[in-house]
Amino acid sequence: MAISSKVLISVKHLVKEYNHGTVHALDGCDLDIHKGEVVAIIGPSGSGKSTLLRSLNLLEEPTSGAIYFDGVDLASKQVNIDQHRQKMGMVFQHFNLFPHKTVLQNITLAPITLKKKTPAEAETQARTLLERIGLSDKANEYPNMLSGGQKQRIAIVRALAMDPEVMLFDEPTSALDPEMVGEVLDVIKGLVETGMTSVIVTHEMRFAREAADRIIFMDGGVIVEQGSPEQVFENPQQERTKEFLQSYRETSSAQA
Ligand code: ADP
Repeated sequence: MAISSKVLISVKHLVKEYNHGTVHALDGCDLDIHKGEVVAIIGPSGSGKSTLLRSLNLLEEPTSGAIYFDGVDLASKQVNIDQHRQKMGMVFQHFNLFPHKTVLQNITLAPITLKKKTPAEAETQARTLLERIGLSDKANEYPNMLSGGQKQRIAIVRALAMDPEVMLFDEPTSALDPEMVGEVLDVIKGLVETGMTSVIVTHEMRFAREAADRIIFMDGGVIVEQGSPEQVFENPQQERTKEFLQSYRETSSAQA
């Protein structure tokens, strides 16, 4: 899919501190995400990946710096952040489905209440989405009847039901049993192939390499290096990137 020259999200010198400035989760990140682009954020644990992703829809409020969505400064007092969040589908590590609602209700709730779709419209869309991921038969079940992989696939289509302009994935497979990782990555791959702008924090290096247009490597709250998958994985320029990829290769070959 072609990447547009249009910048959808622009992050300007983003700083995020926790615990009264004692923890520097983000130490000045600059990043432009283009419409249609698939960006994977990789890096060691604690490097700021989730904080950066969660800042994009202001789930984390920046200490300083700015985030523009389609040219609009999200921190501005005039902006209705809830309306903007609707344009950004978010998928979390732990699915966050509503346990007392059926799969169908989970998917149709926000489109009906926030987008004012009619229940019939929302249900038709939900059933189409469920069919796309092969889970039509689960429409009337409750989340506790589903496997982790199925829950995450439902969480993805629930976000899609809001017709977002961008999808944000925060380690979508790290809470899953290994045998379920593939089915979730396949759904994400299918989605990004449709041209959906996506930002994905992941530990799945092979997936990042295959699915992303651009890899961002973070360490210590900064973007250390970025480039195409070939550039970053085959010819990393920074020592920290080389070390990280090396230790990843050692760990995964030890597990194989
Ligand atoms: P990653 O996603 O790369 O594992 P995070 O963005 O989760 O990293 O965390 C970056 C840093 O910020 C870490 O040092 C983490 O401990 C710290 N941090 C994240 N969230 C909070 C929080 N709510 N309160 C205090 N520190 C936090």
